[in-house]
Amino acid sequence: MKLVSHLPPFSALAAARARALTTIARKALDIALPSQCALCGNVSQQLLCAGCDEQNWNEPRIRCATCAMPLAPSYVRRDREDVRLHCAACLDDPPAFNDTLALADYRAPLDTLAVELKFRARLAAGAEFARHLHAMFEDSGLPPPDVIAPVPLSRKRLVSRGYNQAWAIARPLARRLAVRADAALIVRVIHTAAQSKLDVDTRRRNVARAFVVRSDVRGKHVGVVDDVMTSGATLDALARTLKLAGARRVTNFVALRTPKD
Ligand SMILES: [Zn+2]
Ligand SMILES: [Zn+2]
Repeated sequence: MKLVSHLPPFSALAAARARALTTIARKALDIALPSQCALCGNVSQQLLCAGCDEQNWNEPRIRCATCAMPLAPSYVRRDREDVRLHCAACLDDPPAFNDTLALADYRAPLDTLAVELKFRARLAAGAEFARHLHAMFEDSGLPPPDVIAPVPLSRKRLVSRGYNQAWAIARPLARRLAVRADAALIVRVIHTAAQSKLDVDTRRRNVARAFVVRSDVRGKHVGVVDDVMTSGATLDALARTLKLAGARRVTNFVALRTPKD
């Protein structure tokens, strides 16, 4: 009888050991086997092969300093390269955030990385975005944020997906910037799934009430991270919520930006 009573903990321990060994074996296999470049399929130990890495991360676009919308070349005056440029929309009606850094447009082939990250849990894509966002930040001359936070998912979405793809970028980015990352700084209290069926005003009102700030951000510069920026309405609402809570400055770090057309 005594032996029987010892069995459950022992077998639980054995099962845990077996699981750990499987994980180690799987990791060893990952290292040993050559993998494929996420974009072109060539053999590559890195997420992207050297060729794709060089080709895809040097976008010649000039972007609005506030919202990262691509600007027409005619917008740019060659003699004033030091000046921060802004799109007409931001000049007309400035959003609540101060700056946005975006690596590239949301289009082929880099959109593949965002899809891999979001739907196939390829977290290496998050680290890759973080690496490039950090380099872009270093070149930007912007002041460093005090804290980094991901655009939160609703609880429902987090449970169904199992992870927040924005956090997969935010965490390695914060490590590179040597600032604190806080996954729970902002929470999404309204599940805004069926937004596309609503009119613009209702959508804006819903989004504005979607977030709650959970930490003291008074006087702080908050870096907000997302994988893809589309209309900017979500990031605007988030920045508005942060500023109402006392944040001094909000900088968006987004991997890819959907161009208007
Ligand atoms: Zn490649
Ligand atoms: Zn703009």
